[in-house]
Amino acid sequence: MGERVAETVLKLGGSVITVKEKASTPDTRAIRRLSREIARACCKSMIMVHGGGSFGHFVASKYKIKEGYTNPEQLFGFSKTRQKMVALNKLVVDALINNNIPAASVQSSACFLTEEGRVSYISLEPIIGFLKLNLIPVLYGDAVLDTKLGFTILSGDQIASKLAIALKSERIILGVDVDGLYTSDPKLDLEAKLIEKISLRELKKMLTKIGGARTPDVTGGMLGKMVEIIPAIERGIKVSIINAKKPGRIYKALKNKDVLGTKLKL
Ligand code: ADP
Repeated sequence: MGERVAETVLKLGGSVITVKEKASTPDTRAIRRLSREIARACCKSMIMVHGGGSFGHFVASKYKIKEGYTNPEQLFGFSKTRQKMVALNKLVVDALINNNIPAASVQSSACFLTEEGRVSYISLEPIIGFLKLNLIPVLYGDAVLDTKLGFTILSGDQIASKLAIALKSERIILGVDVDGLYTSDPKLDLEAKLIEKISLRELKKMLTKIGGARTPDVTGGMLGKMVEIIPAIERGIKVSIINAKKPGRIYKALKNKDVLGTKLKL
């Protein structure tokens, strides 16, 4: 096993940093608070990834970007999706910098290629270079080039998982808008119970009970998240799912303190 380049991959869901039901609406308070929590936790050797929420998903689904290139009209959709994500990323990176975090925006579409939606190439050198200087690279779910489809959508969850594996990370923290992984979708099922710890075997057994996305989300809810994260767990990377909407929880998770959430392990 080679050198560990990034200890922690922190993924902040689109449902956390945007108002998911309202097109292009950031949750500015959440972005600022999370930046303060990250600053207070003083993390080094960390990479951040964020989702698209209401910035990326509305325009991406309107132009069917995930399905790939079929007509020239979609090119505007590709451009617009990318610009929306750049705009959201700027808000996140600005908030981090305002809290004295040396964050560096990394355009996902410039360093990832996919083949039928799966990452087939990562230009890792610039990301590793940032990390070695103690900068915190901030990537995001994006519209990317696809060798078979022309283009597609690459989720922040797939990016987080692939980077954690490539950079031999110790842990992935997934910040979402619910307290963790439940026995079923807690927004639909009042009987749903929070699972505080789960092994990979148990997770695979319960996959059929985990829900997809309800709001326009082109990359698919908790189920999509778990499917993406399984290869990382298989490599021994510790994954936790934390409610990033609740003040203080991401801070505690970053500091390895006791915190409500779900721990996923081999
Ligand atoms: P994000 O866009 O923030 O990355 P998603 O909205 O895609 O996150 O996924 C989180 C959502 O998944 C939660 O808000 C929840 O409603 C839904 N969900 C579906 N099934 C489950 C489950 N079994 N446990 C927890 N959340 C679930």
